[in-house]
Amino acid sequence: MNLHEYQGKNLLKSFGVTIQEGIVAETAKDAVAAYKKLQKDTGTEWAVVKAQIHAGGRGKGGGVKIAKNEKDVKEIAGNIIGMMLKTPQTPGGIDGPGKLVSKVLIAEDVYAPDFDACKEYYVSILMDRERKQNVIIYSTEGGMDIEEVAEHTPHLVHKEYIDPTLGLQGFQTRKVAFNLGLSGVAFKGMTKFIANLYKAFVQSDAAMFEINPCLKTGDDKIIAVDCKVSLDDNALFRHADLAALRDTSEEDPTEVEAKAVGLNYVKLDGNVGCMVNGAGLAMATMDIIKLSGGDPANFLDVGGTADAARVEQAFKIILKDPNVKAILINIFGGIVRCDRVAQGVVDAYKNMGNIKVPIIVRLQGTNADIAKKIIDESGLEVQSATLLKEAAAAVKAVLA
Ligand code: GDP
Ligand code: MN
Repeated sequence: MNLHEYQGKNLLKSFGVTIQEGIVAETAKDAVAAYKKLQKDTGTEWAVVKAQIHAGGRGKGGGVKIAKNEKDVKEIAGNIIGMMLKTPQTPGGIDGPGKLVSKVLIAEDVYAPDFDACKEYYVSILMDRERKQNVIIYSTEGGMDIEEVAEHTPHLVHKEYIDPTLGLQGFQTRKVAFNLGLSGVAFKGMTKFIANLYKAFVQSDAAMFEINPCLKTGDDKIIAVDCKVSLDDNALFRHADLAALRDTSEEDPTEVEAKAVGLNYVKLDGNVGCMVNGAGLAMATMDIIKLSGGDPANFLDVGGTADAARVEQAFKIILKDPNVKAILINIFGGIVRCDRVAQGVVDAYKNMGNIKVPIIVRLQGTNADIAKKIIDESGLEVQSATLLKEAAAAVKAVLA
């Protein structure tokens, strides 16, 4: 799950990481009020108006702008709120439709008063799966695309691996500050910044933090100007406060709906809808569809309770995708009984009444024979198969 910049900054701040302060606003009027309050709280003269969407590269797309007075704030916020912001990272890139901006962050201008004395760095933390260790990736080349830096000047991208049993050590934070060429107050500030950032990463069960730019100001303060925070979905149950920050308007609507009813659904680009119980069987089913010449339209694990209500929910989700030309239901009846599932399929089919695509059902396991009979005698346009091979052949036939 991704957080907005303002949410990520709040999280970092709660762990003592110094951030560019800001106040979020949903209207131009609120933006002006936020600007006034920010001026009082921080003493900033100018403000940065920053579009809050789940994508980077906002600056390039016109989603980050400096406002020098109240009039600017009102005008810029008014323009950015409601715009479809296109950046290299929004769906389809700068030629795509962009993303609707519904909030802006009014942030203090941390580059003042001496813009030229400021220096931008890059800092991120993520898990290296091969090493099975967290890694801090950092560079003196902040403020730009780290992918470009890594490609053209790889020696300027440093990595510090953290032993999971020892945790981040003092010598490591000093090494980071040293490699960034810092000294004095800025050196100390950076060691503290990195230590707090790492604490926030571990304690919030994050998957990725990216601070770009991480700024050294003219008076040697170290500040997170931007932040991308991605949290581990599987650990969100331990963080009710963070889970509540989910912004479903930033996610695929069908995936959101599936999640709400407890279905494990991932949309894909193909034409064969899949309804399967168990993630492993779902993967195998997708392979079989590929082998038979189709392309899976989705991954869908209905879980252990494939009753009529659940099958109906799954049908609805699958059929939201206009690309679906056939549906393959592949259920292994271990705990769940196949005849129950078959009845569920028949009931759901009748209930929905508007299913136009062919359906192939393969039920295997407890009471599979009774299940096949239920399907075959239902009078519906549902084909049954016992073997996966037969199911694959049936998929191939309906696609031909
Ligand atoms: P991104 O484009 O989505 O990565 O958004 P950022 O938050 O990184 O902002 C983009 C750029 O805006 C930064 O690289 C800075 O150069 C600039 N910027 C951000 N905050 C300030 C600020 O307080 N003052 C000034 N002068 N520039 C800023
Ligand atoms: Mn950035």
